[in-house]
Amino acid sequence: MLGSMEIAERYVRLAHGINSHHQGFIDSYVGNPVWAENTAKTPDDLEMDCLALETEIAGMTDAARQAFLQVQTRAMRTILRLVRGEKLSYLEEVRGLYDVVPERVPESTFQTALAQLETVLPGSGDLMGRWQALREQFRIVPEHLEPLLEVINTELRARTKKIFNLPEHENIHFQLVQNKPWAGYNWFLGQAVSRVEINTDLPAYLHTLPDLVAHEGYPGHHTERIFKEQLKNKYSHAEHDLQLLNAPEAILAEGIATNALEFICTPHELPAWLLELAPKAGLSLTLEQCELMFTALGAQANLRGVRTNAALMLHQDGATDDAVLEYLQQFMLTNSKQATKALEFIKHARGYIHTYTEGYQLVHGALRNAERQMVFGRLLAEPITPSQLQAMT
Ligand SMILES: [Zn+2]
Repeated sequence: MLGSMEIAERYVRLAHGINSHHQGFIDSYVGNPVWAENTAKTPDDLEMDCLALETEIAGMTDAARQAFLQVQTRAMRTILRLVRGEKLSYLEEVRGLYDVVPERVPESTFQTALAQLETVLPGSGDLMGRWQALREQFRIVPEHLEPLLEVINTELRARTKKIFNLPEHENIHFQLVQNKPWAGYNWFLGQAVSRVEINTDLPAYLHTLPDLVAHEGYPGHHTERIFKEQLKNKYSHAEHDLQLLNAPEAILAEGIATNALEFICTPHELPAWLLELAPKAGLSLTLEQCELMFTALGAQANLRGVRTNAALMLHQDGATDDAVLEYLQQFMLTNSKQATKALEFIKHARGYIHTYTEGYQLVHGALRNAERQMVFGRLLAEPITPSQLQAMT
């Protein structure tokens, strides 16, 4: 049998081999550079390596590590099947990669949320127009974006540090970018440092920034990567130097990130915080406007599943782009430009879209526990699989 470090080495080398056939499989790697060298192995060779590694993992005595590596290597094997041109159904692909089975959200959920918005949003006329009128009051000019990100980041970092032990030297650098399919992205650079890119393709709104910064930074992606890096530093679990994008660990990562803001701020703190930020954003807002915004956002949270359904329509049912665009516009409160952007993301993300919706539900369920700080701390620090997460709800 292989030793603990050799198993990690095989796992990391295998991921790099697969990444040479499927670019983007690796989200970040901050470990030994020798393990990342390209060996020009064929998909057949890599599949043999994967099966051999799975046999080694089956003999491991550390159950937590074993469960994590088992689902992660299953994702590797699924990618190899796709690379070799095997035809998998969309659901087989999603289950193989992410260890979850996405379920359609009943449209009655969206209809209830839209009816709630009808009563919440002021004015008359169509809902989209009324939502845009409210949102416009929170629109910020591009010059204010960077300083605001810093202010919000400082607050969220301080709150996170009060609960969790973070290393002194940890840090995030922000960078504004264009022409990306996402709103923000955390690039973990190792040694507890991240670069967070914020996309400026679409206009920026004050009310979206706390969630964006919490998601990418504190206590979201950046915070989780710091904790997972410590698994390597403390226990030599070098598999955590690697983060795979199309694998079950993404369910936990996005589940943590999508719950990050509501974990670190209570619902009644948020309107007051937005009010405090308004002058820094060059806006003149009242507490009533800020409260109204969060009530509207609360109702809109129930529209989260629209993207799940749209992805299943597109990838599983083979619906046309036009049909999906119409569906997004019907249920998501988006104009045609935003719907086009959402469709672009659904295409780009394929099964990854479900890491947000399934991940949110699973982590949200686990946090209903009375010991939510302890639970959140475990999720940050331990390699918990989707099925283990399910058992915690
Ligand atoms: Zn994310």
